[in-house]
Amino acid sequence: MIIKDILIVGGGIAGAFLQRELSRYQKLSIVWVDNRHLFASSILAAGITNPIMGKRANLTQNALTLIQKRKEWQNKDPLFAKYFVEKNAFRPFKSIDEANQWSTKSLDVPVTIHYTNPEPKYIKAPIGGIEIHHAGFMQVNAFLQEAKQEGNCWHEKVEYSDLLIEKHQIIWRKHDIAFKYIVFCEGSQVVCNPYLCDLPVIPTKGEILEIEVNEPICTSFMYSTGIYIVPKTTQKYFVGATYVPNSTDRTPTEQGKKELIQKLDAFLQVPYRVTGHWAGIRPATSDRIPVIGRHPQHAQVYFFNGLGSKGVFYAPYLAECLAQNILQQVPIPNGLSWRKSLKPKQNVE
Ligand SMILES: Cc1cc2nc3c(=O)[nH]c(=O)nc-3n(C[C@H](O)[C@H](O)[C@H](O)COP(=O)(O)OP(=O)(O)OC[C@H]3O[C@@H](n4cnc5c(N)ncnc54)[C@H](O)[C@@H]3O)c2cc1C
Repeated sequence: MIIKDILIVGGGIAGAFLQRELSRYQKLSIVWVDNRHLFASSILAAGITNPIMGKRANLTQNALTLIQKRKEWQNKDPLFAKYFVEKNAFRPFKSIDEANQWSTKSLDVPVTIHYTNPEPKYIKAPIGGIEIHHAGFMQVNAFLQEAKQEGNCWHEKVEYSDLLIEKHQIIWRKHDIAFKYIVFCEGSQVVCNPYLCDLPVIPTKGEILEIEVNEPICTSFMYSTGIYIVPKTTQKYFVGATYVPNSTDRTPTEQGKKELIQKLDAFLQVPYRVTGHWAGIRPATSDRIPVIGRHPQHAQVYFFNGLGSKGVFYAPYLAECLAQNILQQVPIPNGLSWRKSLKPKQNVE
């Protein structure tokens, strides 16, 4: 039997960042497996990272650490640096009240913000808005393709029935390999994993559009206003995304498209054409913070999940935390491990 150190199951954002982090450690033998992105939400992601998002425009928890870690990854990982584009985000005010609130709120927010009225030719922002710094986007698909080549990813499904999980090793019977550790990075498909089916991950449907615009609407900013507009190619942009918890249906709907178009029309004031429409399932949690760490019963089994809408923002930091936890027993930071406060997942169709 062949002996290896780590088996990583899943080649989405979670698996890719973990594989890249672990491969920095000398002499580790890693096998990385992905089921050809079957049902992956990563391949749909527009890749936006924005420290201030959501209806209430709150600062993401741990935002400063996440920004710091992202910058470190831009320095240490040429592939990430190649596919991550720094771009400030503009968020228009919806009302005078909101603008007034921000004039005090902005003092507490440690990301640089100022009032501006950007590219008024393209968007409706009659009373200005905030410019959010330390934002950007990653070209996720291209990054994953190259990461899989570099990381020699195996393309197949890991059948749970093929795994023998013993006290000190995991045997993958199909290939007759014994591993010290296994890390499941399966996104929303974790609900099918017999070892992790209690992990409180909520499958959360998201729909996204691709639009074509003849003018360069994102030269200075991306936009974030209940929806986001993120550049895809010179003339194409992602517009996303809807958010429907407890849904595993991957079909794009007319309702989802309508919701996105209504929000887009309230904001964009140049003609556009919808050229694509997709739906995927995010692995979310009830407090919208990811969940990583070691299985409570199986000491050799680890998980990296719950990335929700912020996979690109969280993954660089979490990959480091999890690698240090597995290899050096550094505790997982507070609030990121399997915590009691998370609501258990519901049964979904
Ligand atoms: C419409 C939409 C838009 C989004 N936009 C953004 C955005 O702009 N910015 C952002 O940060 N996030 C965004 N997200 C969220 C982002 O996609 C997720 O946070 C992230 O993709 C989760 O990554 P993951 O690796 O945990 O899971 P996944 O991407 O689902 O990857 C899991 C992988 O594991 C593989 N797998 C599962 N089980 C097995 C097995 N048994 N054997 C082998 N392989 C297996 C699957 O094939 C898959 O490739 C968006 C999501 C959606 C749906």
